[in-house]
Amino acid sequence: MTAARRVVVLDFDGTMTDAEKEGAPFFDGYVADLATLTGGAAADVRARAEALRDAMFANPTAYAAEMGRPPEKVAPAVVDPYLRMTPIARQLYDEHGVLRDAGDRDRVGTLLYNRHYLTTVEHPVFRKGAGDLLRALGRRTDLDVWVVTNSGTDHVASKIDRLDALEGGVAWLRPRVKGFAGKFKIDRAWPEAPPDLTLPGLPRPILRQRHHYHGILAGLCDGDFRRVTVIGDIFELDLSLPEAMGARVGLVKGPYTPAYELAYLRERGPRAAIFDELDAVMDFIDLPTDAAA
Ligand SMILES: [Mg+2]
Repeated sequence: MTAARRVVVLDFDGTMTDAEKEGAPFFDGYVADLATLTGGAAADVRARAEALRDAMFANPTAYAAEMGRPPEKVAPAVVDPYLRMTPIARQLYDEHGVLRDAGDRDRVGTLLYNRHYLTTVEHPVFRKGAGDLLRALGRRTDLDVWVVTNSGTDHVASKIDRLDALEGGVAWLRPRVKGFAGKFKIDRAWPEAPPDLTLPGLPRPILRQRHHYHGILAGLCDGDFRRVTVIGDIFELDLSLPEAMGARVGLVKGPYTPAYELAYLRERGPRAAIFDELDAVMDFIDLPTDAAA
């Protein structure tokens, strides 16, 4: 019996892909459906959605992606085209007096997300270096590599197929996708949950009772989070829980990554890293696991 391998967990959308470029059509389609749902004129609803998006860019920490029943603030809304739609949709439902029930909103939100996410499956846009990193990881028999994503398993598998068709060498990852990870799911009744995290510059706590996500990660590492490195593009969603459990975490920056997330990770020493590009990720994965906590 050899020593347990180290586990590498990759987020996919926004981490391996360019969420802004890939998700641009998401806004158009989603807003068109919001017009149908609210009964508003298409042009008016679009103008209002654009105004709300501009307000979010102007004051990002005032907006959060809310999910669940009751709704919980689970992620920054500004960071990508998918999360950005959640406060926009809620505000439009409020203004038009439709879908008042939180459960209905949550259900419809999931339907709209899945429907418009398909546009990104048709035209994935990979970050520079994604293929190189995944091919390099595929050669590493000493690492146990997984994709853990909120998106559908098949959706992300089909993006991997596209990349494999373009560049080759990444098909090995296809059966190693765990979708529907529910990283946003909060379980207030989880007794072993890490406490909420309060960060300077963010006027709400970061909730870490992500029991569902914890279960998936714990299953991959047999509960030994010190063996785990997680790479994601949103600290709150991808990294806050595993970091609290003792995993090493790497944040791949996007244009709207919040400053408070970067400041927190800079204080974590060798157990955290921030990347502008994917080409530095492998060096971080290969840091000795006993790098000072
Ligand atoms: Mg992501």
